[in-house]
Amino acid sequence: MRAFLPDYQIKAPGSLAEALGILAAEPGVWTPIAGGTDLMVLYNAGRLQGRRLLDISRLYELRGVKDDPGYLALGALTTFTEMLEQRAVHQFFPNLVKSARATGALAIQNRGTLGGNIVNASPAADTPPALLAYGAEVELVSVRGSRRIPYEAFHRDYKKMDLAPDELLASIRLPKPQGLGYHFYRKVGTRQAQAISKVCLAAYARIEDRVVADLKVGLGSVAPVPARAFRAEAVVRGRSLDALPLAEARAAILEDISPIDDIRASAHYRQVVTANVLAQMLLELGKVRTA
Ligand SMILES: Cc1cc2nc3c(=O)[nH]c(=O)nc-3n(C[C@H](O)[C@H](O)[C@H](O)COP(=O)(O)OP(=O)(O)OC[C@H]3O[C@@H](n4cnc5c(N)ncnc54)[C@H](O)[C@@H]3O)c2cc1C
Repeated sequence: MRAFLPDYQIKAPGSLAEALGILAAEPGVWTPIAGGTDLMVLYNAGRLQGRRLLDISRLYELRGVKDDPGYLALGALTTFTEMLEQRAVHQFFPNLVKSARATGALAIQNRGTLGGNIVNASPAADTPPALLAYGAEVELVSVRGSRRIPYEAFHRDYKKMDLAPDELLASIRLPKPQGLGYHFYRKVGTRQAQAISKVCLAAYARIEDRVVADLKVGLGSVAPVPARAFRAEAVVRGRSLDALPLAEARAAILEDISPIDDIRASAHYRQVVTANVLAQMLLELGKVRTA
């Protein structure tokens, strides 16, 4: 049943300090709303739990991009379109470009935010695998101050996060890759666009002397949370580009994931496709020219 608008209350604070004060006074009562592209779907379906909405969309403190020589910090309110307009995102984080382009259609990209994509905590969201592959950190703020944690530690279980009821996600910080690197992003859905992913895999490998010096693989839609493929990474790290262990890595990634059967795909499909996409990534990695 559709929601009844007068049942809802909304506050639109003009500053971050005011917003954090509201959250601290009544923790867990106010639901932050940024672009609203996830929350309004729930509202429309009458499934939005919280009746009190805290409109954070005008908080300039959560906007903007800081382009430092060592890292890029994206405000939580950065939209997909704004990400696509950033030269540094294209230069250093092409997987993030692909993930933003793969998200919804233009209206969603104009309105939806990176922070909302993270805190909505869908295992099928498109930016988290890219953020995991780049070793992102998230900055969380409350009246108690701010703290920064690795993004890989943020999602604890399905829709459960390291985010206190009085905290907001303020920004996402990405260390700029140094040296020779290889970027890979693939979303497998029913269609090329406007589809929720069945499997999503992002990877970033740092290459030194034709050896995989480091590798991070982020996965979507194959576990209760966006997840790193730690076992598969360990199998590949330190190996020569000329002898990448495809079969070993394929077996290892099946230990990293715990897919379910759902309306979009079976668990078996997701296992097969995850291993295949990893193999595709490794075959392409093996062809990187280093001379
Ligand atoms: C038609 C359609 C297509 C879509 N396609 C895709 C797709 O292809 N891929 C994909 O990944 N997603 C897709 N989405 C989902 C959605 O657009 C994204 O998840 C988007 O990034 C959500 O951002 P938002 O700002 O609109 O979040 P909101 O709806 O405003 O909020 C989402 C959640 O995050 C919380 N939140 C938001 N910002 C903060 C913050 N700074 N601090 C703390 N909590 C916060 C809110 O309380 C809420 O729980 C689609 C949605 C629609 C309606």
